[in-house]
Amino acid sequence: MEKKILEVENLYVSFDTYAGEIQAVRGVSFELFEGETLAIVGESGCGKSVTAKSIMRLNPEPPARFKSGKIIFNGEDIIAKSEKEMREIRGKEIGMIFQDPMTSLNPTMTIGNQISEGLRTHNSTLTNKQAHKVALNMLKLVQIPNAEQRISEYPHQFSGGMRQRAMIAIALVCNPKLLIADEPTTALDVTIQAQILELMKDLQKKINTSIIMITHDLGVVANISQRVVVMYGGKIVEYASTNELYYNPKHPYTWGLLSSVPRVDIVKSQNRLSSIEGTPPDLFAPPSGCPFADRCEYSMKICREKMPPHFIISKGHGAACWLNHPDAPKVNSPSLFITAKKPTEKRGGN
Ligand code: SF4
Repeated sequence: MEKKILEVENLYVSFDTYAGEIQAVRGVSFELFEGETLAIVGESGCGKSVTAKSIMRLNPEPPARFKSGKIIFNGEDIIAKSEKEMREIRGKEIGMIFQDPMTSLNPTMTIGNQISEGLRTHNSTLTNKQAHKVALNMLKLVQIPNAEQRISEYPHQFSGGMRQRAMIAIALVCNPKLLIADEPTTALDVTIQAQILELMKDLQKKINTSIIMITHDLGVVANISQRVVVMYGGKIVEYASTNELYYNPKHPYTWGLLSSVPRVDIVKSQNRLSSIEGTPPDLFAPPSGCPFADRCEYSMKICREKMPPHFIISKGHGAACWLNHPDAPKVNSPSLFITAKKPTEKRGGN
């Protein structure tokens, strides 16, 4: 049986601000298995990054506050850990890659020292020579050319793609069980983005790390993940295997996300890109009903009155939308961008 590495149970996280309480994450639950890649998808402000940072306890506390729920990593509750205990876990057990490597790397330290810093923090018996050797191997592993020379260079001497490769080396140097990648390819152009995704898949096979990929880009999701959760207004509105989500989506927000992926034939014929009209809900006072109701063209009376539960569509696939209730009017999902034959389902390292 696959080993569960992470379990997030009914997590609520708020930020206490002068203007009031921002209810950023509201009852989020999901699990992650060893060697698996899970994508968390949604637009800015949906709670995906707050959820990811909560796993590493990187949201500043205060103003961030865990209201309830559990984050069980490797059998232990992360929320109950002290800051000292978290310092042992960060980098060693859980690595993180951030969106913009230029602002995440230290401009005053060589790339080699930044890679070996994590190693030395978690292993005080390591000599400088040993740490240097491991850092060099990591640079080679992430395919930095002329690694022997590049190891002594500074971040400004690296290109954007090379900086992101260096960030991956830093995140993986201690062989973490879990890697959280928060929009790791957003700041890169598409060809470099494809290279970085290939590299991450390749490394996952070699190291067997579990990955949580935070993204708003469904192209990235299709490329790298085995399962997806879609977040909106601080909640999970749909979860499924990646194939199932693309070929049988059951939530109007997911339909909107899929329709927003640029498709050359549609852009040519309609001369415009699709978008989801409207703005996300106010998380100072989130609606008591469906958070997507204001933007949903299928909205019904019950949608504004009652939060939809997660209706089970099939094994491993659920959608929080009243349209999936047996008594709801039948609505056909719009023609989305997938037209190719559905591939066979698979889980495990891609
Ligand atoms: Fe739209 Fe209602 Fe479904 Fe929400 S519950 S997505 S408002 S149809």
